[in-house]
Amino acid sequence: MQRIVLASNNPGKIREIRRWLAPLGFEILPQSDLGIPEAEEPYGTFIENALAKARQACRAAGLPALADDSGICVTALNGAPGVHSARFAGDPCSDERNNAKLLALMEGVTDRRAHYYCVMVLLRHANDPQPLIAEGEWHGEIVHAPRGTGGFGYDPLFLDPRLGRTGAELALEEKNRVSHRGKALARLAERLSRSAPE
Ligand code: IMP
Repeated sequence: MQRIVLASNNPGKIREIRRWLAPLGFEILPQSDLGIPEAEEPYGTFIENALAKARQACRAAGLPALADDSGICVTALNGAPGVHSARFAGDPCSDERNNAKLLALMEGVTDRRAHYYCVMVLLRHANDPQPLIAEGEWHGEIVHAPRGTGGFGYDPLFLDPRLGRTGAELALEEKNRVSHRGKALARLAERLSRSAPE
């Protein structure tokens, strides 16, 4: 097994990442298991934040490191909340407050287009000049009132027009087939199966 430290402690993400990478011979170690603290995410782009997280974990663990960063980008808001998705409405940080803020900003807005974005970065070592990068997007639109009880984050507000349901109305497996994170993970797994980390 090739060991990879994961720069995330989110149990949902850990489970999902293991499901894709374990069959390829990769053992995923959450950074908290190794006593590594969460990195700062001060940058204005997803890729910069993902790289910062992966680099810190890589340095601290002395192992290849995987990090992801994601969020929702609304066209009429010039891509906001974007990298600020998790803390859009400030403190106290909650999905309900973030969703309420987004709905308020979208009042009277006719262009409802939005997309989720996810980038996954694998650094083979802290100075790796050529990280493996895999992206995924999920395109849809912002509804006028929350729908559904599943998922998390902005899912009750995000409609997949092809399925006619919000992210919160999809079963997990169904969401993983179409979601930004599912697509990024499938691409990462495909690349890893071609070039195992050194
Ligand atoms: P992170 O990648 O864990 O930092 O997620 C950033 C934020 O983006 C989350 O806290 C959510 O607000 C939002 N987000 C990312 N992916 C999803 C998703 O699949 N559904 C709903 N919200 C998401």
